[in-house]
Amino acid sequence: MKKFIRKSFISLLSILFFFVISFISIKLVNIEFANLNIKYARIHSLLLTINPLIMLLWLLIGPIYAEIIFGISLILIFLIAIGLKTSCFLLHVLILTINIIILNYFYNKYIEKKNKAKLKLEDLEEQKNTILNQYNKQNEMSKAFNKKKYRYSMLKNFIEVLSSTLDINELSEHIIEKTLNLIEKSNMCILYGIDEVKLELSLLSSKSDKGKIHIKEKQGDIFDQWVFRHRQPINIYDINKDFRFSAKDIENVKRDFKSIISVPLITENRIVGTLRLDSKNAGVYTSDDLRLLDIIADLSATAIENALLYNRTEQLAIKDDLTELFVRRYFYQSLNKQFSIASRYNKEITVLLIDIDHFKQYNDTYGHTAGDIVLKEVAKILIEETGPNGVVARFGGEEFIILLSDLYKPSAIKKAENIRKRIQDYSIILRRKKTGITISIGVANYPNDTNLKNELINQADINLYKAKTAGRNKVCYS
Ligand code: GH3
Ligand code: MG
Ligand code: MG
Repeated sequence: MKKFIRKSFISLLSILFFFVISFISIKLVNIEFANLNIKYARIHSLLLTINPLIMLLWLLIGPIYAEIIFGISLILIFLIAIGLKTSCFLLHVLILTINIIILNYFYNKYIEKKNKAKLKLEDLEEQKNTILNQYNKQNEMSKAFNKKKYRYSMLKNFIEVLSSTLDINELSEHIIEKTLNLIEKSNMCILYGIDEVKLELSLLSSKSDKGKIHIKEKQGDIFDQWVFRHRQPINIYDINKDFRFSAKDIENVKRDFKSIISVPLITENRIVGTLRLDSKNAGVYTSDDLRLLDIIADLSATAIENALLYNRTEQLAIKDDLTELFVRRYFYQSLNKQFSIASRYNKEITVLLIDIDHFKQYNDTYGHTAGDIVLKEVAKILIEETGPNGVVARFGGEEFIILLSDLYKPSAIKKAENIRKRIQDYSIILRRKKTGITISIGVANYPNDTNLKNELINQADINLYKAKTAGRNKVCYS
C-alpha cells in the first residue's frame, strides 16, 4: 500500500512536470501556433495530452512498454506531419524525446539507487542473521552454563548432605531426593543396596515425582538386575525397543515407564548398590544425565559404605559376640531411657533377671562348646518371647536380663513364666542324647516394687536368689 502511494505520488509529480515542460514548449512555438487553423490546434492539444500519458505509462508499466508506445507515438506524429504537410508537428517529437531522455535519466538513477538500497538491505539482513545466530548460540551457551552452575551448586549441597548423617535410612532418602532434584525430568528414583547374606539387590529407598511410592520389586527388576550383574551403567531410550531385553521380560515389568538410566554404586571395586531414574516418556535422558548420575552414584557409594561400616562398628560395640544380644552397657542405657519415659507418662517397666540353673555342671558334663550352643539357643528363645517392645541383653556369663516396657506387672510375670516354660521344654541333642536346661527368673517392677531406678535390678536379683533357693526352675517376684 505504502509502495503504491509512493509510486502514484511520483507519477503525479512527473505528469505535472511534463505538463509544465509541454506548456513552456508550446509557449515557445506560440508564433507558429498563431498561424494555425483551429483543426491543427486540436491535433496539437491531442498530441500534448499523449505526451504526459506516455510518461505516466512509463512509470506505471515500466520503460519497455512505454518505449514501444513512445516509438508508435513518434511514427504517428511523423505520419501526421507528412499527411498534413506541416513541419510544426515535428516539434512534439522534440518535446517527447527530451521528456523521455530526462525521464530515462531519472528513472535509471532511481533504479540504481533502488538496487543499491536493495543490496544494502540484503547486506543488513545478512548481518542481522549473523548477529541473531550469534545471539542464539550465546543464549544456548548461557542456558547450558546456568544449568551446569545449578547442577554444581546442587552437587555441592548434595555432598554436604551426604556427610551430615551416618544413618543408612536417612542417607538413602537424601540420595533419592537430591537425585530427583538434580535430574528433574524423572518420574521415579530408586536406590538399591546389597543384601550381604543373599548377595542380591535390596530396596533401600524410592521416591516418585509425586512423593513416596510403594515399590513391589524389592530385589529390583530386569534392568536393575542387569546393572547389578554387569556392573555397568545403562541408558535406555525406550524399553520396548532395546535389544538387550526380550518382549517377555518387558511384559513382566510392573510399573509404567519408557526410558531409564541406572548406574552401579561401586566403591573400592565392590558393588554396594544401584541407583536408577526412569520416566514415562521415551528418550528422556542424555549422556550428560548419565554422567551426572554416575557422579552422584560415586559420591553416594562412599557415603553408603561409610554408613554401613559405622552401623556395623556400632552393632559390634553394643552386641555380644557369642549370643548377639545387647551388652550390659547398652542395657543400662535403655533402662535409663525407658525409666524416664515411664516416670514421665505413668507407665510401668519390668526387669527380668535370668540365670541358667546348674550351668557349671552342664559345662562339665557336655563340654564348654556345648555350653556355648546352649547360650546361643537360650538367647534366640529370649528374643522370640520378648518381642519388639523389649530389650534383651547378656548380663554376665550365663545370666541374661530383659527390660519389658509398657506391660502391667501381671502380664510381665506371665511373660516370665512363658519363657521359663519354653526353656524347660526345649531340648538339645548332644551325642544322640537329649539334653536340657532350666532357668530361674527374678522379677522387679516399677513402680510396684520400687520407685528407684537403681533398685530395680537389685530387687530382681533378690527375687532370682529366692528362685534359686526355692529349688530353681522358678519365677519369683515381690
Ligand atoms: P546355679 O544354678 O546356682 O546358677 O549354678 P551354676 O552352675 O549355673 O552357677 P555358677 O555361677 O557356679 O556357674 C556358672 C557357670 O557358667 C560357670 C561357667 O563355666 C559357665 N559359663 C559362664 N560363661 C560361659 C560361657 O560363655 N560359655 C560357657 N560354655 N559357659 C559359661
Ligand atoms: Mg550365675
Ligand atoms: Mg547359674
